[in-house]
Amino acid sequence: MKYKAWFRCSAGCNERYELTEIVYRCRQCGELLEVAHDVDKLRQRKPVSWKRLFDRRYMRTNWPYGSSVWGKKELVCPNVQNENIVSLYEGGSNLFWAERFGREIGLKNLWLKQCGNAHTGSFKDLGMTVLVSMVKQMLYEKKEILGVACASTGDTSAALAAYCAAAGIPAIVFLPKDKVSSSQLVQPLANNALTLSIDTDFDGCMKLVKEVCAKNNIYLANSMNSLRIEGQKTISIEIAQQFDWEVPDWVVVPGGNLGNVTALGLGFLMMKDLGIVDKLPRIACAQAQKANPLYLSYLKGFKEYRPVKAQKTLASAIQIGDPVSIKKAIKVLQRFNGVVEEASEDELANAAARADLTGLFNCPHTGVALAAIIKLLERGEIKPDEKVVVISTAHGLKFPDFKIHYHEGTLEGVTPLYRNQPVEVPADYEAVKGSILRAVEKRPYDYKPTLVPRPSAVED
Ligand SMILES: *Cc1c(COP(=O)(O)O)cnc(C)c1O
Ligand SMILES: [Zn+2]
Repeated sequence: MKYKAWFRCSAGCNERYELTEIVYRCRQCGELLEVAHDVDKLRQRKPVSWKRLFDRRYMRTNWPYGSSVWGKKELVCPNVQNENIVSLYEGGSNLFWAERFGREIGLKNLWLKQCGNAHTGSFKDLGMTVLVSMVKQMLYEKKEILGVACASTGDTSAALAAYCAAAGIPAIVFLPKDKVSSSQLVQPLANNALTLSIDTDFDGCMKLVKEVCAKNNIYLANSMNSLRIEGQKTISIEIAQQFDWEVPDWVVVPGGNLGNVTALGLGFLMMKDLGIVDKLPRIACAQAQKANPLYLSYLKGFKEYRPVKAQKTLASAIQIGDPVSIKKAIKVLQRFNGVVEEASEDELANAAARADLTGLFNCPHTGVALAAIIKLLERGEIKPDEKVVVISTAHGLKFPDFKIHYHEGTLEGVTPLYRNQPVEVPADYEAVKGSILRAVEKRPYDYKPTLVPRPSAVED
């Protein structure tokens, strides 16, 4: 094998473990591990040659390289043998110019990276393909593993269940009872995962799954396992690739457990290290006001950090009070001249709905990021001519109740400014015509639509 990666201590101890070892924390100091790559070896290939290689593979069917995660295998996880890769064709998600919404909020160059247009409907697939592939590699190397487990706010469990089902490996998911959407609950059920509904919150589930994995040969799939970060790193590589290897001015991402913001930063740093890009963007992490420990730490210049008790928020996937990757995320944000912003329930729901009016269909977490952008623009932190990419983390269809209740006007703490309700009409021509006219008049379009009868119309 030409390239190689291994675990090392993220706090800088001189520890090194194989990626096939079942270990999540440094045995010296207890801090999280991170995946290290043989960068000298990677540097032997010229930047232009990396770009050509990645472009040649991008979204083709030459398995496994058509997956945008495995298309960057050398930078992600070179250790796994191709025959052990468990891939459902990750990445390659839509990155598009949100021209109309950008114009409305005063940003010329706003882009949305639709990471939720993915196999299980969230960006979690990117990391899970790497983790489950490594598990398959370990099983191939005769490691005894009963199964793979995670605590989840809904999307990690969906991804774990799908990848384990594809690999024929047991998945065990720990979900906080009544705190994930019904679509998210049905995903692991459909994929045959052992689904535990536990009477606690995410942080409570996390504590339990850690204990279960520490005491048994059950492999932990939460993002404290840094293999997932390696896969998620490809979000930034893919953004650069989709911009013909240019880097935007800002990337804005919603943060809960803070693995993704960490991954985003590490991806850009690795590309810079290898000369694939020549600058770094600024990163903004957006939190729900009801679960904002990173934001509170940011207000103190990152000098202090205190976990909070996460309150119930519509942005349920980031309802996390004690993020596992807090230290890594702070390091990344400092490196990227980063900022942290927060959004209230009212702000996140209205931002999501306002953007929906321009053709999007946002999940509440993307709403948090969009609300943060509006606030950062108002504060002058983001400038109107800067190029901004929002990471949309999940598909809006995973959160139907959020959408339905918004438009019904029944979300607690939200004054819906952009409601749309079905119009009940009797089965009668004049009534239908009348309601079309009234509806058209009420709405803001780019032109004034007028009703013109067609003289040639044939009546039965
Ligand atoms: C997991 C998740 C997040 C948060 O990512 P972290 O790595 O936990 O910060 C945000 N949005 C959605 C939809 C998610 O599933
Ligand atoms: Zn250490």
